[in-house]
Amino acid sequence: MEEVLKIAIQKSGRLSEKSLDIIRACGIDFTTDGRVLKERATNFPLEFLFVRDDDIPTYVRDGVADIGIVGRNEFDESGFYLDVVKDLKFAKCRLSIAVPNGFEYEGLTSLEGKRIATSYPNILMKILKEKGVSATPLVVSGSVEITPQVGIADCICDIVSTGTTLKMNGLREVEEIYRSSAIMIARPGFRNTVSRKNDILTRLLERIEAVELAKNKKYVLFNLPSSRLDEAARIIGGMKSPTVTPLMDKDWVSVQSVVSEDRFWSVFEDLKAIGAEGILVMNIEKMTE
Ligand code: ATP
Ligand code: ZN
Repeated sequence: MEEVLKIAIQKSGRLSEKSLDIIRACGIDFTTDGRVLKERATNFPLEFLFVRDDDIPTYVRDGVADIGIVGRNEFDESGFYLDVVKDLKFAKCRLSIAVPNGFEYEGLTSLEGKRIATSYPNILMKILKEKGVSATPLVVSGSVEITPQVGIADCICDIVSTGTTLKMNGLREVEEIYRSSAIMIARPGFRNTVSRKNDILTRLLERIEAVELAKNKKYVLFNLPSSRLDEAARIIGGMKSPTVTPLMDKDWVSVQSVVSEDRFWSVFEDLKAIGAEGILVMNIEKMTE
């Protein structure tokens, strides 16, 4: 039987679509019907396992899945000893302390002896312990922000993205204690094994990296008076050498190069200033260095 790499992905939630998007961008085809637990990619040895995000570290630890995509928060909260293969940098969020209006907050020490409602007691208690603060966690799995109003907690520690939910519940964010994004995890040592599965993961990671690299780059093509070539090379910078093609008109050349997105507008303006014409900009689908 052909070996496949098994990847655990959140069935439905904030991580689901983006996780699948990344894999799709790698040219891996599959169908998802939203109800099935397992799905096999059609043109790559990859099998999906669609599960709740809380269970992903457990599945990876137990070998039910070889790898998984999960929020760093869920992974750290699980406390499992697993390897972080890659930070995928989406689903960014923060864990913050929020207190009711009227609570005098002067730093984590203000939490001494308080009851703190949270879904992440392990992460919270570890951070408080490092600061020498002792508090009582109240573990709730949802609607953390209502607990101070109903009197079961003094404050909360929760995931915040915009802060609107907090405000609606009379709370204010006073301190960010932790940052999270989606990560790829694997069993400890998996990356060091000589195995077909590890080879498949290497191929997958190479593809992900090629997509990532291309995402922030633009392909730029323009015509330039030959005499300005040195200046153009300096403006574009970074690259070994832009590709230069002669044109019918001997005084002009056509130049092609790759420019990173963040520098694009300044490069564009500088090129125009030295006489570049017909500047054409294209998205790059995939790229290797
Ligand atoms: P499941 O049904 O799979 O248990 P869930 O409700 O626990 O889903 P989601 O709300 O889909 O989980 O969030 C999944 C992850 O997305 C979180 O663990 C966190 O890493 C990340 N995330 C990003 N932004 C936010 C946000 N604003 N609120 C909550 N989680 C966020
Ligand atoms: Zn969950």
